[in-house]
Amino acid sequence: MSQVAVRCLGLTKAFGGIRAVEQLDLTVEQGQVLALLGPSGCGKTTALRLIAGFETPDAGMVEIGGRIVAGPRTFLAPEKRQVGMVFQEYALFPHLTVLDNIAYGLPRGADRVNRVKEVMSLASLDDLGNRMPHQLSGGQQQRVALARALAPEPHVLLLDEPFSNLDAVLRTQVRQETRDILKGSGATAIFVTHSREEAMVMGDTIAVMNKGRWEQVDTPQRIFHAPATRFVASFMGIADFLPAHLSNGTLNTELGSTPLPKGLSKENQIEVMVRPDDVTIRPFESGQGVIIERTFQGAFYLYQVALPSGSVVHCLEPHMKEHAVGTRVDVSLNGEHPPLCFVDGHAYLNGIDGEG
Ligand code: ATP
Repeated sequence: MSQVAVRCLGLTKAFGGIRAVEQLDLTVEQGQVLALLGPSGCGKTTALRLIAGFETPDAGMVEIGGRIVAGPRTFLAPEKRQVGMVFQEYALFPHLTVLDNIAYGLPRGADRVNRVKEVMSLASLDDLGNRMPHQLSGGQQQRVALARALAPEPHVLLLDEPFSNLDAVLRTQVRQETRDILKGSGATAIFVTHSREEAMVMGDTIAVMNKGRWEQVDTPQRIFHAPATRFVASFMGIADFLPAHLSNGTLNTELGSTPLPKGLSKENQIEVMVRPDDVTIRPFESGQGVIIERTFQGAFYLYQVALPSGSVVHCLEPHMKEHAVGTRVDVSLNGEHPPLCFVDGHAYLNGIDGEG
């Protein structure tokens, strides 16, 4: 049976008039990686610092490894919480070798040597034990920081924007390595990022935050394909919202009709969300759309297409399908999966993946 590693209930923190974190509830099970994702200033770092013990909550509680570490009458200092931290700047001791950096926080004894060997092997650092931090690449330093934080077997590892110092190519490699190391060690981890791509690669679960509150806590797949709110939909990638109305048992949009989701009968404000890969265009002299913008993205072109109503939809096409701005096109929904409906700004999830 899975066990809870971290639980937060009603966690709240304000700085003066700024409500950084409001009424956060959260459960992270052992061995899971949770990504805290959201725009700058939404409260991600404050949430992480409250869990770590660098901030005192105004209300609510934090439980780590089955023990309440912050609550109405309890506050445990960070070093008593058995949490590991990995910061952007790695914070390795510059005068200690890789081996001594990793061994630093461990009690002396035979187990210490074994544990250091174990995490060095896990992080593929076996041959680098005698190097000094300045003799390592950024990616290697990141692995040392991770190994050092994992060595004392913390209840949870907290990582704050751990890849932001790395260039784009290294970042892709290191985040995959980090995920492999975390999964290989069975560690529980919470990491903060404002990159949706990073959250999707790294997280078993993503918690999308906006103005101090969760918008949605879910799997990466559902956060992307079944966003609960317009905010999540737009934060996770380009999303267009087409007005829709019900008639004769179907849901009609400017790009054609789609099956009516189960149970949807009210004729209030209904919109259908379309992502660029849901839309197909075909040059056609009397087509209903006109290409107004084209962006080259390497393997793909991203087109913006104006419709007769004035709505604009985005469309992603392979780079072989190159059309000029001004081309008139036929626009359709490719219908590969049921479209997601929004009623009054919130996702209507009936009929999707067993919901409803
Ligand atoms: P970023 O991605 O830019 O780091 P974030 O999502 O991590 O942002 P936080 O750093 O948690 O956001 O900040 C949330 C809000 O609380 C912001 O408005 C910030 O200015 C404010 N804040 C954070 N720490 C303090 C502090 N010590 N004193 C005053 N205000 C603070």
